[in-house]
Amino acid sequence: MTVEADFSQEKLHDILNTYWGFSSFRPQQAEAVHAALVGQDALVVIPTGGGKSLCYQLPSMVKEGLTIVVSPLIALMDDQVAAANANGISAAALHSQRDDGERRTAVHMAQSGQLRLLYVSPERLAIGDLLPALLPDVCLIAIDEAHCVSHWGHDFRPEYTQLKQLFSTLPAHIPRMALTATATPMVQQEIQTHLGLRAPKCLIGHPDRPNLIYRALPRKSIPEQVQAVATRHPEGGGIVYALTRKEVEKVCGELVAVGIQADAYHAGLPAGTRRDVQRRFVAEELAVVVATVAFGMGIDRSNVRWVVHAGCPRSLEHYQQESGRAGRDGLPAECVLLFGGSDLSTHRYFIDQDDPPPHRRQILEDQLKSMAHFASAPICRHRMICDYFGAAYPDPQLAHEHSDQGCGACDVCLGETTSMPTVQAEVLAKKIISAVWRTEGRFGINQVVAVLRGRNTAAIRRHGHENLSVYGLLKEYDDWTLRRWIDQLTVQGYLVQTRSDGFPLLGMTAQGKTFCRAGGEVSLSQGIEKSSTGKASRKKHDVDVEAWEGVDRDLFDVLRVMRSSIAKSDGVPPYIVFHDAALREIARAIPTQLEDLSEIKGIGEKKSERYGYTVIQTIEDYLQAKEKEAVE
Ligand code: ADP
Ligand code: MG
Ligand code: ZN
Repeated sequence: MTVEADFSQEKLHDILNTYWGFSSFRPQQAEAVHAALVGQDALVVIPTGGGKSLCYQLPSMVKEGLTIVVSPLIALMDDQVAAANANGISAAALHSQRDDGERRTAVHMAQSGQLRLLYVSPERLAIGDLLPALLPDVCLIAIDEAHCVSHWGHDFRPEYTQLKQLFSTLPAHIPRMALTATATPMVQQEIQTHLGLRAPKCLIGHPDRPNLIYRALPRKSIPEQVQAVATRHPEGGGIVYALTRKEVEKVCGELVAVGIQADAYHAGLPAGTRRDVQRRFVAEELAVVVATVAFGMGIDRSNVRWVVHAGCPRSLEHYQQESGRAGRDGLPAECVLLFGGSDLSTHRYFIDQDDPPPHRRQILEDQLKSMAHFASAPICRHRMICDYFGAAYPDPQLAHEHSDQGCGACDVCLGETTSMPTVQAEVLAKKIISAVWRTEGRFGINQVVAVLRGRNTAAIRRHGHENLSVYGLLKEYDDWTLRRWIDQLTVQGYLVQTRSDGFPLLGMTAQGKTFCRAGGEVSLSQGIEKSSTGKASRKKHDVDVEAWEGVDRDLFDVLRVMRSSIAKSDGVPPYIVFHDAALREIARAIPTQLEDLSEIKGIGEKKSERYGYTVIQTIEDYLQAKEKEAVE
């Protein structure tokens, strides 16, 4: 290890530009790199897509030493190795799917100073022989996905708890860097303790991801709603998350039936099938995966353009993690949460099955409440996520040119969901709760809606419901609006959705009864009819529209085809060749000279050298074809 390495800003920027093709650091990156260079431990919390890899990759390029990266999943490691190598950074991985020869080569390269990054699984590291063999060259130990060490996080891995003991045998001067995307203060504390970080530099990024467009909508028809989202993103892949394996199979079948190219993924499928689905999705041969949360951490495909949750997850941590797989390339991506009040009873059922001690039950209940609030309240979704993670919104560090126009990236700020005026909401809520009261909590939502709408059905007549004072009280609203309000009143604690012998029932709570008598504050929201493209009025600040400004979309499509064929012949996923962001940038700037190409963000020397000619040639052909078309 070169002790007297040059750590100047100039040198760092030089490396950043040469290998990654970036002109500036993202928030927290420079500080994280600096900590590693001066030998200080660090805890880095940056949202998905924020650029954590660079934090631990760059120091080894500066110091010309070896960084050991602990990573929980083989797919993640392989992906990172491919991406690093594509940038001209020598990297390798040690895990059970590499054969003896490959593993020996990797260790040999590491020992002879030819390797900058060595990815290892915690299990491999725990054997104990590896670190001592590599020691003289190790300049940093990075623990990626560090939340895996926490019981409270979403992916607890017992192997991670052995790391602390392992690290304690290392020379004290080797810094440790723990990285994760999502961590509440409680989880941050656990990471520090359980990984034995020593007075770490805490670099906690802002949790907001401005490029994600959140929509929280009432669940009407999963296939139709998914189709609407998929149609808005013809160029990109998507993930549909469902709560159970059975639901995954069902939804997948429904999507295929409406002509969407989808495959199922869950832990109940054979490993070979799962690997194949993942491989095809990553290679962009498969457009949509319908999955349980088992389809997760290993998905580094950066151009996932949308994630739909067919059912509500049990906490906002989960939601942020899962929806966060969209838009890692920084381009707008859509995250749609389809919510129904019955999701709450499903999760409560799971909690009861688990039968946790009171303290834990309370935490789970609170998490569920925040999640339901997010799913149903007419408040900016970006703001609610930031509130939950204890951060101010908008990020005070960022100059927000549009801050008075909302986030430009949620159903509320885009004007698709609006809240009812307070007085009107109170009147509506009273009518709905009264209908539940009059039907004595003995019926499901359908019947209550039928009563409120004044329907003349057999069930209504059988129970004499046409004689109730609440009959037909809200006939001017459609079923979906009424269902949405019922769900919102459930979340706010006025109504309760339960099951009796498998039959869903809608009841009133004590709080609902008090409200009916004395009134009170309640919030209801409504969807606004959208145009056929599914987009609301165009005048508002809208991150998706803005991100396409000036982009020649036809050229973008041509470049994607070019990228696919390069990826095929190089045997890597397309996003390793070029990110969508780089392709969009090219399709905006339309460079015709090699020199201009290296000005594009995300194209370093190596990529420019390797693919530059092909890109310029493709652009030339495209321009010529267009000209010819114009003449004809
Ligand atoms: P994370 O691990 O935090 O989810 P990654 O390390 O995978 O994020 O990086 C996400 C994306 O951001 C990658 O496409 C990466 O190339 C890009 N990126 C990272 N750092 C920068 C930067 N300084 N400028 C521009 N893009 C960056
Ligand atoms: Mg990462
Ligand atoms: Zn918003």
